[in-house]
Amino acid sequence: MHLPRLSMGVGDRFGAEGEAQLAAFVALKAAGVEAAPVWNKSNREHQITGTKPEAVRVEADAAARALQWPGAYFVDADHIGLKNVDGFLAASDFFTLDVADFIGQSAGDDAVQAFVGRHAGHAGTIRIPGLSADVESTPARIEAVARKYLRAVQEAGQIYRRIAAAKGAGTFVTEVSMDEADQSQTPAELYFILAALAEEQVPLETVAPKFAGRFNKGVDYVGDVRQFEQEFNADLAVIAHAVRTFRLPKNLKLSVHSGSDKFSIYGPIGKALRATGAGLHLKTAGTTWLEEAAGLALGGGEALKLAAAIYAGAFARYDEMCKPYATVIDIDRNRLPSPDAVRSWSGAQFAAALRHAPRNPQFNPHFRQLLHVGYKVAAEMGGSYREALQTHRAGIGALVTENLFEKHMRPLFLM
Ligand SMILES: [Zn+2]
Repeated sequence: MHLPRLSMGVGDRFGAEGEAQLAAFVALKAAGVEAAPVWNKSNREHQITGTKPEAVRVEADAAARALQWPGAYFVDADHIGLKNVDGFLAASDFFTLDVADFIGQSAGDDAVQAFVGRHAGHAGTIRIPGLSADVESTPARIEAVARKYLRAVQEAGQIYRRIAAAKGAGTFVTEVSMDEADQSQTPAELYFILAALAEEQVPLETVAPKFAGRFNKGVDYVGDVRQFEQEFNADLAVIAHAVRTFRLPKNLKLSVHSGSDKFSIYGPIGKALRATGAGLHLKTAGTTWLEEAAGLALGGGEALKLAAAIYAGAFARYDEMCKPYATVIDIDRNRLPSPDAVRSWSGAQFAAALRHAPRNPQFNPHFRQLLHVGYKVAAEMGGSYREALQTHRAGIGALVTENLFEKHMRPLFLM
């Protein structure tokens, strides 16, 4: 089982938009580009919505059957570790091994020195085609990388072996993520991390490094786009060279955990993919839940009241909603509309404030981020929320599909 060259991580909080999301991949295929959908839902999201990984499998299989999707698709156990992987073993065939918490921990002096011994001793630098500067490979430099990252790589090996023992090697896709780290990895760090993962015999097909800049939930990239472009291109070059040098899967590619909707970096990403032929996995799952909320608002009547009530609930429980996401949101509370004001809005006003159109003066990124993290309120509504989704299924589905296709797939893959 292998991940195709292009894939996108999608998914939704309430499992109702499987077909609507897959319809965007059908449209992309009709436009001549094949990408595999990967349904992802993290452990955190399952806990907040009270769902189990099996529900994502049911959703993905049902969507693929309903639309007679002929291609590959996957169910991602997103950001799992040894402590919670077991619950995902049956339902998932894609595992994102999150080892960011182990960065900086000690792998032990013996392991570090052995790693240095295996990789030092060359010219002191490594020339990587496509990189403007050579990668330093002095013993001191390699030791510094090993001290910072070797323990994290060992952890990835342990998680991988736990999954392989349960499911069988070769029956699932492996990603290693370090995106929730404090600092971006340099090209040299990524190169030796990949060397260590190859030695650990993790057959990784995607790797998610951290990039500079802020990847706040549901809103655009905040940072220097040119710096991102340099990092992204450097990472592509390092991966291509590492695949040639170490025994890593030939389809190893970059994974960008976008936090949804990083429109301003899609241009550079698309350009790099076309120039190099490299593959990409891009996760943008949270965007769908916000289309759901916008679709309810546009449904008017009771559904609009429900959307306003979700906002009011999230507003009243601001600290609780934001706490799990504190490092990946930037909300200015002074720019949040009052729940009373929102209750007076038309559906069109609600949707315009919420839907991500950065140049629309009615768009409010603070409102959008709070709703992004406020899905617990909708989860607590239980049946009444799910019934509203059914009642307004057609309108919501059209928004979900259009959002994924026009705002994400088109700039990434069709420009
Ligand atoms: Zn991530």
